[in-house]
Amino acid sequence: MTLKLGIHWFRQDLRLSHNPSLIALSKKVDKIIPIYIVDPNQRIGSVSKWWLEQSLKNLSDKIEKKNGKINIFKGNPFDIISSLTSDKNIQYFYWNRLYDPYSIKRDKQIKSFLKSEDVDCETFNGYLLNEPWEIKNKGGSFFKVFTPYWRHCNEITRNRKLNKQIQNIKFYNSNLKNSKKIQDLNLTNKNLKWTDKIHKNWSPGENHAQLQLQEFINTKATNYSIGRDRPDQNLTSKLSPYLHFGEISPMEIYSQVSLSKRINSQNKTKFLAEIGWRDFSYNLLYHYPDMIKKPIQSKFNKFPWLKDNKNLKKWQKGYTGIPIVDAGMRQLYGTGWMHNRVRMIVGSFLTKNLLLHWKLGEEWFFDTLVDADIGSNVAGWQWISGCGADASPYFRIFNPILQGQKFDPNGEYVKKYVPELQNVTKKFIHNPWEMPEDNQINSKCKIGKDYPSPIVDLKETRNRALSAFKTIS
Ligand code: FAD
Repeated sequence: MTLKLGIHWFRQDLRLSHNPSLIALSKKVDKIIPIYIVDPNQRIGSVSKWWLEQSLKNLSDKIEKKNGKINIFKGNPFDIISSLTSDKNIQYFYWNRLYDPYSIKRDKQIKSFLKSEDVDCETFNGYLLNEPWEIKNKGGSFFKVFTPYWRHCNEITRNRKLNKQIQNIKFYNSNLKNSKKIQDLNLTNKNLKWTDKIHKNWSPGENHAQLQLQEFINTKATNYSIGRDRPDQNLTSKLSPYLHFGEISPMEIYSQVSLSKRINSQNKTKFLAEIGWRDFSYNLLYHYPDMIKKPIQSKFNKFPWLKDNKNLKKWQKGYTGIPIVDAGMRQLYGTGWMHNRVRMIVGSFLTKNLLLHWKLGEEWFFDTLVDADIGSNVAGWQWISGCGADASPYFRIFNPILQGQKFDPNGEYVKKYVPELQNVTKKFIHNPWEMPEDNQINSKCKIGKDYPSPIVDLKETRNRALSAFKTIS
């Protein structure tokens, strides 16, 4: 008897649990051939390559434990898939959908090719709570503002059941022609010491994603709504890279958090809305595919951004002389992640105080974040720089001193990532340039020598930003 075979194309769904495409395909075929394709045209950052390599190893082990073998390829997905389907007797080809413009265009072409070859090609939602085209306002159009969007989206999601079954998934075990070993994909540069530091902070893979969720529910979620804004307290879930690589599904997180009896409704509401922001970002990207490069508000095309490579470099590496900005940027460069509140502070500082283009920030984040995600990153940058659809207005300029005093009141976060400021007293931790001479001596921190003087004057540059904004408004 010949086996009925189907291919599941893993992409940003590197998990077995609650994987809608795998569940559907397992009902149609005897065995599933799992594949992954490293597509050189798909944008991916340096740190994400490291995560991907680890995650593929993890997934490959999980599939081997189920007596299967994942076949990994590198190259143009269209060419690889067309040769796979002509070589093997493949009747089914399934995957979970992605929503960035590049993937949408590529996947459409592949799907129509497969259909023309009489292959049953189906695609599913495993990446978002709801797909961008599903959430519409009363007028039938999409939402541009988060609050009404989330009200609607949450209402629909609440009534959905989670299907987690993986016991029926049976994988095929064979090496396909041209498949590669993970170590031969050259995803990471072995001489790059940078990723060693990231390694110490993160454990990629589906099992770790599940542990991370349980840890959040058991120990952090009960203080989430008040603690989520405090970078000095480790109270957020740190699920973002796992969500980006699809090592856990947003629906699984939504369902487990909603059902948990440990978390009160205030904390649940706040946390689920954050998961909603992720969907909202893709809602925007789907409807404004150009937003990866261009501001949603077109008047910002004429904004008088400055060009200043020196200041950009100081911002990237955390040597601006503004403690909370430097702490955030060094947290990012050293660990691959930055707290959300601090992402907003450093974003406002770059685009408003330094007057540098939001795209420069978006690119640096994309290269250095473990959770670098096309939708959430570009939406975050357009929001903070004021040029997006549901934007924080441009004239809302974060004051990094006040933000630091409010959200890192004892300076513990700053001291953790900026050790030069270790002995600076609470009074000056967010404005050390104001320390009198004797304080600088006592705290062993001479401004301009041990720690930089601010690269810009906060008040002056705030006014400069407001004047620049007037030129386009
Ligand atoms: P939690 O507070 O535990 O939130 C749970 C989950 O909700 C997160 O894992 C994330 O998936 C989602 N979420 C939370 N806040 C947001 C938000 N504002 N927008 C979208 N999703 C959100 N997030 C990314 O995943 N990838 C990015 O590349 C990214 N770039 C950003 C750039 C800027 C300028 C800003 C202001 C925000 C960016 N964010 C990005 C959103 C947010 O900062 C991170 O999702 C969050 O800090 C991740 O930490 P966590 O998992 O502990 O979050």
